[in-house]
Amino acid sequence: MNKRKEIFLKDYTKPAFAIERVDLVFDLYEEYVIVTNTMECKKLDAKTDDLNLHARDLELESLHLNDLQLQESRYVVTEESLCVLNVPETFRIKIVNKIYPQNNTELEGLYKSGDIFCTQNEPEGFRSITPYLDRPDVMSVFTTTVIAEKEKYPVLLSNGNKTQCHEFFNDKGRHGVSWHDPHPKPSYLFALVAGNLGSISDEFTTASGNLVALNIYCDLGNESKCTHAMKSLKEAMLWDEEKYGREYDLDIYNIVAVDSFNMGAMENKGLNIFNSAYVLADEDTATDANFMGIQSVIAHEYFHNWTGNRITCRDWFQLTLKEGLTVFRDQSFSADLNSAAVQRIEDVKALRERQFVEHASPTAHPIQPKSYISMNNFYTATVYEKGAEVIRMMHTLLGEQNYRKATDLYFEHFDGQAVTTDDFVWAMSEASGIDLEPFKVWYHQSGTPKLHVHKNFAKGVFTLELTQEIPNAVNGAKQRAYFYPLKMALFAKDGKEILAKTLSISKMQETFLFENLAEEPILSINRDFSAPIIVQEEHVDFAFLMQYDTNSFTRYEASQNFALQTIESLIQGDAINEAFVKAYGYILDLDVDTSYKALLLELPSISTLMQRQKVIDFDVIYGAKEQLAQHLAVTYEAKLLALYRENHEPQSQHLDADAMGKRSLKNRVLRILAAKDSSVVQELAQKQYDTSVTMTDRVVALDVLENSASDYRKVAFEDFYAKYKEQTLVMNKYFSLLSASHREGVLQRVIQLQEDSAYDEKVPNLVRSLIGVFARNYKYFHAKDGSGYKFVAEKIIAIDKINPQMASGLAGAFKIYDKMNEENKVLLKKELECIISTQSLSKNVFEIIDKILN
Ligand SMILES: [Zn+2]
Repeated sequence: MNKRKEIFLKDYTKPAFAIERVDLVFDLYEEYVIVTNTMECKKLDAKTDDLNLHARDLELESLHLNDLQLQESRYVVTEESLCVLNVPETFRIKIVNKIYPQNNTELEGLYKSGDIFCTQNEPEGFRSITPYLDRPDVMSVFTTTVIAEKEKYPVLLSNGNKTQCHEFFNDKGRHGVSWHDPHPKPSYLFALVAGNLGSISDEFTTASGNLVALNIYCDLGNESKCTHAMKSLKEAMLWDEEKYGREYDLDIYNIVAVDSFNMGAMENKGLNIFNSAYVLADEDTATDANFMGIQSVIAHEYFHNWTGNRITCRDWFQLTLKEGLTVFRDQSFSADLNSAAVQRIEDVKALRERQFVEHASPTAHPIQPKSYISMNNFYTATVYEKGAEVIRMMHTLLGEQNYRKATDLYFEHFDGQAVTTDDFVWAMSEASGIDLEPFKVWYHQSGTPKLHVHKNFAKGVFTLELTQEIPNAVNGAKQRAYFYPLKMALFAKDGKEILAKTLSISKMQETFLFENLAEEPILSINRDFSAPIIVQEEHVDFAFLMQYDTNSFTRYEASQNFALQTIESLIQGDAINEAFVKAYGYILDLDVDTSYKALLLELPSISTLMQRQKVIDFDVIYGAKEQLAQHLAVTYEAKLLALYRENHEPQSQHLDADAMGKRSLKNRVLRILAAKDSSVVQELAQKQYDTSVTMTDRVVALDVLENSASDYRKVAFEDFYAKYKEQTLVMNKYFSLLSASHREGVLQRVIQLQEDSAYDEKVPNLVRSLIGVFARNYKYFHAKDGSGYKFVAEKIIAIDKINPQMASGLAGAFKIYDKMNEENKVLLKKELECIISTQSLSKNVFEIIDKILN
């Protein structure tokens, strides 16, 4: 049965009870698990008589109140709750219930990933394990004992510190381990793992001299692939001490990698559970991007220990309190450890690809949503990535020193509490003396704001007139002007920087004057992407900024905008703008960091182009982009080939900035060259596939071959498959490459690949690689015969029955419905209506499709 009740932020009420201690015992068996849950409770609201616990599909074995077994008349069980009637002021309640993790395909609560028992409880998975006040503002001290057959499950883990090992538990052959977590925490941070796991260990000494044991667990045989994750963990621990003054607070820190996981990773106190894609890596099987991703996600989950675990969210509407802040922290960490310029551009690219699209769709929501049907649908780019931009703006407004003072105050004042985004902004304001009241609109409004820039120069005065354009909310309501920092600079015609400053923008319209200028200056605006807005500026000298801008972000922005303008004029039917071609040639000669140069040479993505079209027709967009790419490949063939050879070091497996930068530039060049499908390029790709020793090089070579006329394509893919078919993480890449292909007949191949023995519809990573990537293959997903829509819609309906969270993720592909051309819209609508009329559709998918249709 479907529960589609909408939950509102305005309806928040404090919990009526506190759970001061909870003692859990898990008896794990092959067919089922017995959970014994003993809670010490205290009434907080004298007017409440009954203890109403969250419980999903409860199978109750017994119920005791202060050691007395309760008769059925003393409690009520519904599909969603266990209500114990007439409880005293303080009491102990003991619940025994039975669950079936082996049948749990939703991957929420306690489930099995292969032979490993593991948990995922955020946001509301715990209530399917045992009845509880499953809300983040109920924080308690947990003691957990896990009991299982020793031979099958030698490793038994939970949160906190290990307190006891029981060699034999009741029967012979079973053993148990007890864990105690002294830090009060909400139930969503509870975790349990049992399995026959391999591990690597290390240690870290905190600034105060406490020794912490570090362990990373994985499937047996994968231990050697955990070393990069371990290195990243230690880097993160040190960085958080130095940058934020935050130390780790338990004797042990465990990470477990599992294959079946809906998200990237989960920050459970002292026991992080990870999607194995963010732990396992070695030079043979992982790309440079995978290594960077691991460093970032390991750090992200570690940073949550303070921003999320010690200080948590009062309710789920506050999710960005922990996620926006922690994403900002992991972005800063990656910027400090790698290239800050590249990191910033990559972060903005990701924001625009996903979050800007979300903000322009019917599922747009503020970083603090006002309501939800399924909270799982709000783990979004808006809450995370835009949330991080909001923290970054406060960091810019306060400056590094005041920001640190403010975070110190936040940690000191709210440690051990469940708080709100207002509490965070209060700390920022209190420590810095800056009034941030007007800044709070960022938390409550949706849609990406625009800024119109009008420039004028007369009598030595440069006038900058800025007008905000604020999109309406999804329900049509008018929204207010934003307050933000806007970094800008002025340049003289000879390329010298005249001034650089940060303007404070707060009104719908304002004017800034710059006096005593000898000549009309050139403007560089929204440097570092200081605000997550769309700048609309006319008469921009892109070529000048590509040559002289001293800010690495706006220089990149100029090259992107120039390319966008050029492609858009091709869409209009104009000829290629040779001024852009010339500027592009200038970048080829530029002497800058190789990984930065690779970004400067990248043409705008199809998604970026799509967002700027009033009515979308993908055939036209692809056509125009390919036309420009071909022209560049032909014009600069010799230069590109030279650049390729200069940077191609096939035998280097190093992971330092120099080696990774060279790989990224060389592979960018190869992709540009591939636009002109010549035998020279095909041979380069073939040779790169055959001789390179990194996965980065192999994947790019395969991609180029797949999209070329080369016959070697088949040989290379067969070779790749034979080598890696046993390794799920590599097979993800294999499926992605084939799903993203531009060659004819992709859909037929995707359909066939579902039968491949390496594919498993129950493993989210594989579904995302095959079906998810296909749904972003605009060329074939939006095919004019409707076949792409029909296929994805059928998959959503089928997968919804296994794993609703995964299905609603796929449904996101339909978000651009409103902006499609009429022909596609008709086809899309048919499939959307088919999905929504499906019997027993989950609330997850219902919420997404319903918003798109209405
Ligand atoms: Zn997080």
